[in-house]
Amino acid sequence: MGIKANYHTHTVRCKHATGTEREYVESAIKNGYKVLGFSDHTPQPYTDGFVSPIRMDMDELDGYLETIKALRDEYADRIEIRTGLEVEYFPEYFDELMKELEKRDIEYLILGQHCVPDEEYGVYAGSATDSEEQLREYVDLVIEALGTGKFMYLAHPDLIHFTGPDDIYLRHMTRLCEYALDNNVQLEVNGQGLILQRWYPCERFFKLASDMGCSFIFGCDAHAPEHVLQPSDVPGLPEFMKHTGISF
Ligand SMILES: [Zn+2]
Ligand SMILES: [Zn+2]
Repeated sequence: MGIKANYHTHTVRCKHATGTEREYVESAIKNGYKVLGFSDHTPQPYTDGFVSPIRMDMDELDGYLETIKALRDEYADRIEIRTGLEVEYFPEYFDELMKELEKRDIEYLILGQHCVPDEEYGVYAGSATDSEEQLREYVDLVIEALGTGKFMYLAHPDLIHFTGPDDIYLRHMTRLCEYALDNNVQLEVNGQGLILQRWYPCERFFKLASDMGCSFIFGCDAHAPEHVLQPSDVPGLPEFMKHTGISF
């Protein structure tokens, strides 16, 4: 018995994923999913000509949605397919982005804050750092983003790669977890991080979140069809859940 839904799935439009949308759908069915949500990296409505190397462009959004909706109809009797996006909160562009998204049939957004404070001038949140300032900024930005009420859940909350002392880490992450707890925001345990043996999901974060009583969701964060896996099939995840005391 596995879990029913995975809402974190990419497509080749983000420039760092492989496979066709159909292959992701077939893989989800094969792995026992009843719901598959596509949540590719959102385009951003840049006005200064900046072209992101890690996301689709604004003019690819409609094609993305059309492709998913065609599969949604075709596979309706086998799996429920949903349209979503993984969105960063970049304050300068957020309102404009929401305006664009609201015109379209997008069923949900997840928050994945990869850059602090933005993509053009900021830093990758996953670069190892012992800067408390950067940790604080990440947590502040995530809390502000969640405060917009636009997000279904928080993807890889522990993407920030803080290498400094536990007391500082736990102090700031406690703020994040408190917010999640008070506002019923689920925290994602990220499958891709485990498969690629990244620094996340991170035990010191999830032990804290688990002790505080937060609630959790598994997200494949699949950038390849074969990574649409049940939690029990993700290398290291059953042990991770045991060590941290989390369940889905
Ligand atoms: Zn990605
Ligand atoms: Zn993702």
